[in-house]
Amino acid sequence: MEQENILPVLYDLVVTIGSEISVKPLLARTLQRLLYHTSFSAGFICLDVPPCQKDSGVVEVKLDAVVGDFDLIGVIGKPIALPRELVCEAAGRETEQAALLSSLRCTQTQYKAYLRLPIDHCGVIVLLAAEIPETSLPLTTMLQPVLAHLAKAIVLCRNNDAHTSGLVNQRDLLEKVFESSYSGVMITDAGQQIIEINPAFTRITGYPSQEVYGKNPHLLASGRHDHDFYRGMWTEIESSGHWEGEIWNRRKNGEVYPSWLNIDAVRAQTGALLYYVGMFSDISKRKEAEAQIHQLAFYDPLTKLPNRRLLIERLQQAFAVGARSGQHGAVLFIDLDNFKTLNDTKGHDIGDQLLSEVAERLNTCVRDGDTVARLGGDEFVVVLESLTAIPGEAAAQADIVAEKIRDVLSRPYQLARHIHYSTPSIGVVLFMGYQQNLDDVLKYADTAMYQAKTAGRNTIRFYDPVMQAAIEARAELEEELRHALERQQLSLHYQIQVDSRNHPLGAEVLLRWQHPKRGLVSPAQFIPLAEESGLIVSIGSWVLQTACIQLKTWQNNAYTRDLTLAVNVSAKQFRSPDFVAQVQRTLVETGAKPGLLKLELTESIVLENVEDTIAKMRELKLLRVSFSMDDFGTGYSSLQYLKQLPLDQIKIDQSFVRDIVTDPSDAAIVQTIIAMSEVLGLNVIAEGVETEEQREFLDLRGCHAFQGFLFGRPVPLQDFEARLRESNVYL
Ligand code: C2E
Ligand code: MG
Ligand code: MG
Repeated sequence: MEQENILPVLYDLVVTIGSEISVKPLLARTLQRLLYHTSFSAGFICLDVPPCQKDSGVVEVKLDAVVGDFDLIGVIGKPIALPRELVCEAAGRETEQAALLSSLRCTQTQYKAYLRLPIDHCGVIVLLAAEIPETSLPLTTMLQPVLAHLAKAIVLCRNNDAHTSGLVNQRDLLEKVFESSYSGVMITDAGQQIIEINPAFTRITGYPSQEVYGKNPHLLASGRHDHDFYRGMWTEIESSGHWEGEIWNRRKNGEVYPSWLNIDAVRAQTGALLYYVGMFSDISKRKEAEAQIHQLAFYDPLTKLPNRRLLIERLQQAFAVGARSGQHGAVLFIDLDNFKTLNDTKGHDIGDQLLSEVAERLNTCVRDGDTVARLGGDEFVVVLESLTAIPGEAAAQADIVAEKIRDVLSRPYQLARHIHYSTPSIGVVLFMGYQQNLDDVLKYADTAMYQAKTAGRNTIRFYDPVMQAAIEARAELEEELRHALERQQLSLHYQIQVDSRNHPLGAEVLLRWQHPKRGLVSPAQFIPLAEESGLIVSIGSWVLQTACIQLKTWQNNAYTRDLTLAVNVSAKQFRSPDFVAQVQRTLVETGAKPGLLKLELTESIVLENVEDTIAKMRELKLLRVSFSMDDFGTGYSSLQYLKQLPLDQIKIDQSFVRDIVTDPSDAAIVQTIIAMSEVLGLNVIAEGVETEEQREFLDLRGCHAFQGFLFGRPVPLQDFEARLRESNVYL
C-alpha cells in the first residue's frame, strides 16, 4: 500500500478518536475506508471475543462488523464458535488460517488471504481477501504495515487520554498528514461554513482556499442527488455523528466525478458541536478500474462477448426464470467447421477476424434477452429464453433460430483480401427450470454438436432423439407443404353459418391438405408451419382467391347471391405490406362483391401492432369488406382496443360454447360478450355449437348467428351446396 493512502486513514483515526467510546466501530470504519483505497475485492470481519478461558477449546465470538462480503452480513451479531487458539493467541500462525476460514463456512466466497489483528484482550480483526490480483503485491505485504500502524495507534489511545496521547500532541505529525494527505479534507464550523481545507481538496475540486472559505460545502454539489439524499445524510450525522458513502460532486471546471466521502461531527467533551470534518477521495479512477476488471472478468477480449463465467451466471438466471414461468429455454452449442485449418494456413490474425465477424453475426440472430457467449477457441454458445411451455413447439422455435444462425454464419466472409467460406455445426438442448443441472445441459449441447459434426458438419442436431425426430418430421412436412399448392393438394371446406331460423347466412372456409401418404392433415398442424416458413403468404392468397371466385359464382344464383364467406387471415399474411392491395386486386380480378367477404382476425394479430391493424382495416372497410374477431375471449380481450377497431362481428370461441349449459362461469362470460357486442354495435356469432341446448341458450341471450357441427361440419363445396339445397328447395 502506498504511503499516501495510509496517511488519510491514520489522520482520520487521530481526528475522530477523541469522540469515540469504543475502538472497534472506529476500526471497522477505518478499515472499510482503507479497503476502499485498494481496488480489489477484500473484506474484513470484526469479532467480539470474550476473555479467553484457558481450559476451553472453543470460544464463542460475535461477529461485529463485516465489510465486502454480503453473505457474512447475514450473520452479524450471531455467535460463531471458533477454536480458541485462533482468536486468543498471538496472531499470524499460517497453519490456522484454513481452520478459521472453514469456520466461516457460512460464506460462499472462497477466501485466499487472511490477516489477523488482536485488539487488546477483547477482540480481533480478521482481514480477508477473496481474490488477489496476480499483478499486485500479496495482500499481506500491502496491508501488514497498515495494521501495524493501527495497532500502535490503538495502544496509544488505550493507554492515554486522546488529548494527552503522543499522537494528538504531535502537532507536526498531524500537520504533515493533513498537508500531504491524498484525500481532500475540509473542516467546517458548526454552522457548516468551511474554515479549513487541505491541498488535496484544491487538487481534486479545483477550488483554491480563498474561494471556499466561509462558503457552504454545497458548492460542490453535482445536482445528481435529490433532497432526500442530503436530508438522509444529515439525519445520520446528527444521530450518529458520522456519515459515509459514495457521492457525486462537481469540480470547479464543471466536471462531475464520483467520490467517497466521510463526514464526522466533532464535539467538545461537553457535547457541544464544534466542527464537521469531511474527507473525500476521487474514486473515478477506481470506478474505471472496476469497470475494466469487470470487463476482463466477464467478457472475452477478442469478441467482447460474455465469457464462460458470465454464461454460467446467465444460464443460472435462465433456469430460475424457467422454473417460475414454466417456459423452456434452449442452449445452442456452435462450433465452426474446419476453423483449425484456417488458423494454420492463414494465421491467427485472420482466424481472429473470422471469430469477431462470427460474434457480430451471432448477435444479429437473437432477441434482446438472449445470450451469445464465447467459450474459447471457435466455440460459441447461445442461450435462448422464454420459449413456449410445450416441448415440441419450443424445439421448433429453437430450431428456427439455429437454422437462422446456420444460414447467417454460412455466408461468405471478407477476411483481409480473401473471401472465406465457413459453416457451423450446432448442437441444441432444451431446458426448463431446474429439471437438469447446468453442467449437464452444457455437456449435452456439446454432445449434440459433435453429433452434428459426425453427421457431416454444417448441420443442426438436437440432443434429445425424440426432439430430433420431431424436428426432422417437421422439416419434411415443411418441404412437402412447399409443393402442396402446385401439386393441388390443398382444398377448401365450407362450414355453414346460420341464423335463428336455421337459414344459411354463409360459410367459413377452412383449409384442408390432402396429403398423398399422411391423409388429411389438420390446419392446426400445418398453418403454424406455413406461418414460420413464410409459405402462408402464398397459401393465404390462394385461399382468398378461391373464396372470391366462389362468391362470384354464387352471385349468379338468386338463392346464393347473398351468402357471405368468412376467410381466416393469419398474422404474417395480414402484416405483409401489400395485404390491402392483394385483397383489393383479388376482389377486382374475381369480380366478387366485397360486402360478402368477411375476414377473420384473431386477437393476437391485432395486439401485435394495433395501429397498423386499424389502418389496414380502415382501408379495407372503405371497399366494404367486413371483419370478424375470431376465437374471441381466448386472448386478452381488452375492451380498450376492441372499441378502437372497426369490427363488424365478434365470434365467441368454441371453448366457451362447449360447456355453456353446464358451467356457470362460461355462461357468464358468453352473456358478457353478447352484452358488450350490443353496446359496441357489433353483431355476434357463436362457433362450435354442437347441441340444441347450446343453440337455445345462445339464442335466448341475444346471439342469433351460429356455426357448428349441429348445423354442418366443414365439407367440400359439392356437399356444402347439397346441404344448401336441403335447407332451400329452390337451389
Ligand atoms: P378457426 O378459424 O377457429 O376455425 C374453427 C375450427 O373449429 C375449425 O377447425 C372447425 O372445423 C372447428 N369446428 C367448427 N364447428 C365445430 C364444432 O361444432 N365442434 C368442434 N369441436 N369443432 C368445430 P379446423 O378446420 O381444424 O381449423 C382449425 C384452425 O385452423 C382454424 O380455427 C383457423 O385458425 C385455422 N385455419 C383454417 N383454415 C385456415 C385458412 O385458410 N387460413 C388461415 N390462416 N388459418 C386457417
Ligand atoms: Mg375462423
Ligand atoms: Mg375460431
